[in-house]
Amino acid sequence: MESVTVVVVPFPAQGHLNQLLHLSLHLASRGLPVHFAAPPEHVRQARARVHGWADDVLRRVEFHELAISDYASPPPDPAATSPYPSHLMPLFDAFVSDAPAALASLLRELSAASSPRRVVVVYDVLTAFGAEEASRLPNGEGYAFHCTAASLISRDLDGGLQLLRDAHGLDDLPPLAYSTEEHLEFVAKRARTHQTIPSSTGILMNTSRALEGEFIDFVATTFAGYGKKVFSIGPLNPMLLELDGSLPDGKGVTPRHECLGWLDKQPAASVLYVSFGSLSSLRGEQIEELAAALRDSKQRFIWVLRDADRGNVFADESGESRHAKFLSEFKKQTESTGLLITEWAPQLEILAHPATAAFLSHCGWNSTMESMSYGKPILAWPMHSDQPWDAELICKHFKAGFLVRPCDKHGEPAVVTPAATIQRMIEKMMVSEEGLAVQQRAMELGKAIRASMAADGSSQKDLMDFIAHITR
Ligand code: UDP
Repeated sequence: MESVTVVVVPFPAQGHLNQLLHLSLHLASRGLPVHFAAPPEHVRQARARVHGWADDVLRRVEFHELAISDYASPPPDPAATSPYPSHLMPLFDAFVSDAPAALASLLRELSAASSPRRVVVVYDVLTAFGAEEASRLPNGEGYAFHCTAASLISRDLDGGLQLLRDAHGLDDLPPLAYSTEEHLEFVAKRARTHQTIPSSTGILMNTSRALEGEFIDFVATTFAGYGKKVFSIGPLNPMLLELDGSLPDGKGVTPRHECLGWLDKQPAASVLYVSFGSLSSLRGEQIEELAAALRDSKQRFIWVLRDADRGNVFADESGESRHAKFLSEFKKQTESTGLLITEWAPQLEILAHPATAAFLSHCGWNSTMESMSYGKPILAWPMHSDQPWDAELICKHFKAGFLVRPCDKHGEPAVVTPAATIQRMIEKMMVSEEGLAVQQRAMELGKAIRASMAADGSSQKDLMDFIAHITR
C-alpha cells in the first residue's frame, strides 16, 4: 500500500468538495496515503469537516493548498432570473486557469519524493486537467470521479437516451439547460477537455446499485469497451461507514447542533426538512410563499434559510431590512411547529433522525443520495444544473418523491409558485395515503442503500475492488 500515493483533486464547489473529501477519508481508513489538493479556502473548509474520524485515518490525509490568483466575486444578484450562483464563476475561472500548474508541481514532488510505484490521481470530471497532469508522470494514473447520477452519465452515451426513455419512462430533460449561458459554456468546455483526454484509467461514480443498478451496468459495459473500469462506490456518506444496515443515531457527533435536541422532542416521522443546498437561493417573493405554506400546513419543519449573502433577499432596495423583519415575524408565527436555521445545518444528522419524515429539496445529487440513504422521501424543487434530472429520477424511477414545481427555464423570469400549491404538496407528502406510501417506499430504498455500503454490499465491494485495482 505504501508504494501507492493517491492524490484527490475536487472541484471547488461544496457538493463536489464533500464527496471527494469523504472518498479521501474512506481510502485513508483502509491504509492508503492520500493527498487532498484544493484552493486554500477549500482546504480550510475540508479540514473543518473531518471531525469524528480516527487519528490514524487523519494522519494519512495530507492537505495541500493549490495557489490560485485573487478573484473578485460580485455579490449575488437577488433580482437574477436564474438561481444559478453566477457570483462563483470568477472562483471557478481562477481555479481552472491556475490550479493545473500548481497541481503539476505537487505531482512532480510526490512522484519524486518517495518514489511510489504509482501516483493515482482521482479528479472531479470538472477538474479534468488532473488526468492530463497524471499522464505526464512516468508512474501516474488518472481516475475520473463523477459527482452525478449514473443515469445522467448514461444519457450522454450511445443508446443511453433510448434506455432511459423506453425502458424507464424517463424524459429527455436537458440536464444543464437551467443554468446561465456562462455556466453552460464553462461545463461544456470542461466536459470536452475530459473527453479528449484518453489517459483516465477508470471511472468512479458516487451512486449505489440499490438506486441505479441498470444504469450502472450500462455505463460499466460502455466504458469497458474503451478499456476503462467503472467502480460504483456511493454513497460516500461518512455516517454510513461500515454500517450493518441499521441507522446511526447521530449522537456521536460533538458538539451536537441544537436542532437535533429539538428533533429529539418531536414525534417520529413528523418533521419536514427544507433546504436548497449550499449554492442556491430563492427570491424574496418566493420565500414569502414558501413560508406561508409551511405556516398554514401546520406541519412541523426545519427550514435552512441563509441570509442576504446567499441572495435570499427581496429584490427591492429595502431587501435586507425586509428580510430581517420577515424572519422575526415568521419565527414568532411558527414557534410551536418549526425551526429556522440561518447558518450551515447538520444535514446528515437531520436526515438520519427518526423524527424527520421527508425532505423538501433542490435535488442536488448529494442531497438526493443522503435523503434516500436515510429512507426519507423528497418533495422535489429543482433549480438548475443536474437537479431537474435528479428530480425526474426521484419521482419517476425511485418513486420516492413528488415534484413540487418544475424548473424555471433559463432566460425566463422566475415564476413564483403560490403558497397554496406548496401547501397542497406538503400535505400530500406528510399526511395523505399517497404520501405515506411514498414514505414507506423511501424507507425500503434506504435499507437497500445502507446494505450496499455494509460489508458484502455492492458499493463496499466496488470500493474494495478499486483499492485492489490501484494497489495491484
Ligand atoms: N449541506 C449541509 N448543510 C447545509 C447545506 C448543505 O450539510 O446547510 C451539505 C449537504 O449535506 C450536501 C451538500 O452540502 O452534502 C450539498 O450538496 P448538494 O449536491 O445537495 O447541493 P449543492 O450545494 O451542490 O447545490
